[in-house]
This record gives sequence, C-alpha cells and structure tokens, in this order.
Amino acid sequence: MVRDCAPNAAHRALARWTSADPERRVLFTQNVDGLHDRALDELNEAPHRGGTPEAARPRTLHGDLFGVRCSTCAWKTRHLEPLDPSTLETLPHCPDCGALARPAVVWFGENLDPGILDSAFVEAERASVCLVVGTSALVQPAALLPRVVARGGGAVIEVNPDPTPLSAQSAVCLPAPAGSVLPALLD
Ligand SMILES: [Zn+2]
Repeated sequence: MVRDCAPNAAHRALARWTSADPERRVLFTQNVDGLHDRALDELNEAPHRGGTPEAARPRTLHGDLFGVRCSTCAWKTRHLEPLDPSTLETLPHCPDCGALARPAVVWFGENLDPGILDSAFVEAERASVCLVVGTSALVQPAALLPRVVARGGGAVIEVNPDPTPLSAQSAVCLPAPAGSVLPALLD
C-alpha cells in the first residue's frame, strides 16, 4: 500500500527546501514510509541536478518501513517487494546468523537509534527556526524537540490542521494541511 503512494506537495516542497541548503536545513521525520526520500530523488535525479545530496536525506527517528534487519545481529538490507507472512519459514531470515529478520522500524516501547536521536537534540539546541509539520506532538521523545528549540530561543512554527499540546508554545500556528501550506511557506 505504501509503495503505491506518491509524495505529495508537502514532501516535494520539503525536498526543494532541504536540497537548496542541506547543511543548514535538516529534516527529522517520524514517518517510516520513505516518501521524503522519493520526493528528493524525483527532484534531484532530474537532468542536470546531479543526484540527491546525502546531507539532504531525512533522518528517520522511527526507522524505515522498507528496511529489514536481523532480530539478533547487525545485518540490514532494504526489501521493496511484498513479503509472504503465511509461515515463519517464508519470512526473511538473516543470511549471516540465520535468525528471523524483522522490519527496521521502531515499534512502540522500543528505543530510537541513539545516534539519530542525539543528532536531533544537537540540531534542536542550535536551531533558529523549527517547523513542526503534521504531528500530534504526543509521541516521545520526538515531541520534546520543538520544546528544546523554544527553550534555546528558536521560533517554533506549527503546521497542523488541529491544535496540539505544542500549539500554545509555538510562535506561529498554521492550522491547515501541510500540502496546502508548505509550498507557499518554503518556496
Ligand atoms: Zn543475524
């Protein structure tokens, strides 16, 4: 189902924005659907664009739905075709140690990748502006990040159709869908 989806106007606006200055415009996402990457590749693989800069890639706080990793060792790969979940035997297994593989996403109750999480807090502490787009602002620890920005004197801009616990602490709230707001805001 996710593979058949396409990036929307918000993904494409963010891809243009981060690609224009990837060292200073950093995207952290709770999404696991890979649509930010696909929007980046559609933009940067156009003729004369030279490919997506690695620094422009989103840092995925909650992992990658198309990633598969070993449940025991460090083996990891990407798997774009549908899997057969009918038996344990038909599910992918690790080629290194033989253990059952699992989706490379963070399930509820699991820890986030400490490297990505640490870099999120570093960026939040030095950010002058933080856009918070399309999130309930309830899932921790990601929901702490805009509060770190605000505490350090940065401006928080919230884009969400409905109010969230973050709205009262935001410098600006834009109560609309991301696809209708972000192209105008970022371009
Ligand atoms: Zn393994």
